[in-house]
Amino acid sequence: MDLGLKGKIALVTASSRGLGRAVAEELAAEGASLVLCARNTASLEKTADAIRETTGAKIITVTADVSDPAAIDSVWARARDEFGRVDILITNAGGPPAGPFESHPPSAWTDALRLNFESVVNITRAVLPGMKERRWGRIINITSIAVKQPVDNLILSNSVRAAVTGFARTLANEVAGFGVTVNCVMPGYTLTDRIADLAKANADQRGTTTDAIVGAWESQIPMGRLGTPKEFAAMVTFLASERASYTTGASIPVDGGWIRALL
Ligand code: NAD
Repeated sequence: MDLGLKGKIALVTASSRGLGRAVAEELAAEGASLVLCARNTASLEKTADAIRETTGAKIITVTADVSDPAAIDSVWARARDEFGRVDILITNAGGPPAGPFESHPPSAWTDALRLNFESVVNITRAVLPGMKERRWGRIINITSIAVKQPVDNLILSNSVRAAVTGFARTLANEVAGFGVTVNCVMPGYTLTDRIADLAKANADQRGTTTDAIVGAWESQIPMGRLGTPKEFAAMVTFLASERASYTTGASIPVDGGWIRALL
């Protein structure tokens, strides 16, 4: 299947490692040029060099904290100066801290909203007018299985992902007539640094080992294992493609069957 991604410009936020990096790698392998951002310049550059080497893709990098609206402006400005447009937007960020409700001060809620919700709104506001004008665009938000089934000990993430989903589902209807699709992809337990940190936080809280926590997760997953970032990236890349032109407003799990729901 030709995904029709050659020559497309894709902006992937929070892409120095983990799911964001895996998506960037797949898009580049399919012929897209990339705009990558993350907070740490050295690790971002290292990632960009590695992707250039394996794919030959044209890539620009911008050091930016997506929870800062001014930083989002600078990412957009660099993308526009270099490529003149963004065809595909993948919104991603680090996850908010784990912990039950009473462990979080009020500021944790504000921070989580800035990091995982307002960042999505701000970067979408920047790229959407051009997509509508050209009558082609793909917006894909990386959310979480928590949207369908809350994950214990992740009250901040469970709450804020729902906001992104409401935003995306509504926007999808508003822009469908302009050839712009808006979808969310919900990762299940996927082997990244974030998941290792989460396993440790849960182990510390419950007085057990990280292996025991990962084992308990695996036992809830019909496939009996965690996912790989590459498996996740394949779904995002399809939704970003020309071939996914009639899929919009969807939230699609990549979770090895973890969500126990009919739809
Ligand atoms: P990760 O920690 O491995 O990678 C996160 C990436 O985001 C890194 O490149 C980091 O540098 C960047 N980043 C973090 N905060 C940023 C900020 N403020 N501004 C710019 N860049 C920032 O995480 P991951 O496992 O790849 O997860 C990505 C997202 O998916 C997270 O929001 C996470 O909560 C969510 N998620 C992950 C899983 C999983 O199993 N991995 C499951 C459900 C949801």
